[in-house]
Amino acid sequence: MKLRVFCLVVFLLSGAAAGTDLLPTVVVVTTGGTIAEKVDPATGGAVPAVSGSALLAAVPELEEIAIVEVVEFLNIDSSHMTPEIWRDLSAKVQEILDRTDVRGVVVTHGTDTMAEGAFFLETTLESEKPVAFTGSMRNGSDLSPDGSANLYNAVLLVCSPEAAGWGVTVVLNQYINSARHVMKDNTTNVQTFDSGDFGYLGYITGNHVLVYNTVLECTRIPLPDSLPEVPLFYTFAGDDGNYIRFAVDNGASGIVVAGVGAGNVNASVFHAIEYSLENSIPVVICSRARHGEPEALYGDQGGGSSLVEAGALLAGDLSPFKARLLLMIALAQPDMGSDEMGLLFNAN
Ligand code: ASP
Repeated sequence: MKLRVFCLVVFLLSGAAAGTDLLPTVVVVTTGGTIAEKVDPATGGAVPAVSGSALLAAVPELEEIAIVEVVEFLNIDSSHMTPEIWRDLSAKVQEILDRTDVRGVVVTHGTDTMAEGAFFLETTLESEKPVAFTGSMRNGSDLSPDGSANLYNAVLLVCSPEAAGWGVTVVLNQYINSARHVMKDNTTNVQTFDSGDFGYLGYITGNHVLVYNTVLECTRIPLPDSLPEVPLFYTFAGDDGNYIRFAVDNGASGIVVAGVGAGNVNASVFHAIEYSLENSIPVVICSRARHGEPEALYGDQGGGSSLVEAGALLAGDLSPFKARLLLMIALAQPDMGSDEMGLLFNAN
């Protein structure tokens, strides 16, 4: 009899009865965004108002699936995010992922620039553990806020075996997108994130993950201590290229140009890009189009093939905003040669 009592006591003390030993540890790093905002009666507009701890307290169901810790990193609308903040966020998330007891990380973030933030961390983190970005399209004062369900699903994903190998994801409205291809596609709808031609990675329903896809590519580059200036220009009819020339003369270390169609520009912009390349400032060509990739198809001055001939790089499957971040991170590497830089972009 004594042995049975002893075993029961050990079992209870070990916490196994409560199941807490069996639950994975997930750290939620909060940065702000609509998920943490409420309407300010004075202005009638949504402003940062909810702490990270309060976000977790609003989802008691989390205790059933994970041991959740919170790190309150920032509380800003993501329209104010910068690459430098993402650099510091990546360093903090890396520190957390390096803990052996941590299964993965959820980052709550504003949706306006979440796609870029997720890509920045995917590119600079050195860990195979899952990181899921989430947020909300409706604030805490709205009729039916979506933040709590999104937060629960993001923690569930990080705990699930399906997330292994997916790197950094964006989880909103049950859909799972890759950091590389996700884009915010609707200004106000809860179903705002999608990945265009590449499709969703999966879908969360009834506490489990449906797998639709695999991650096609994941570029990893060491997190730099500082980041260079890389402006982005969306070209337009009648563009004279002078803003590119101004950037070359005023501190740009690289330039990204979103061209028309398959990545074409007019002759004036073409000469401005030549001016940049002649000053050893690399130029990456993207497209204003949402689908497809820039290609060396047209041979007139400013056509894709003339740009490649002049030494510009084609961005492959990256959006202009993510190509800019990749070029910033690459240029910050002490030993990134032009060949390696070319592979980064043309290897897609
Ligand atoms: N403006 C908000 C943000 O990006 C939008 C959102 O989070 O849904 O922080």
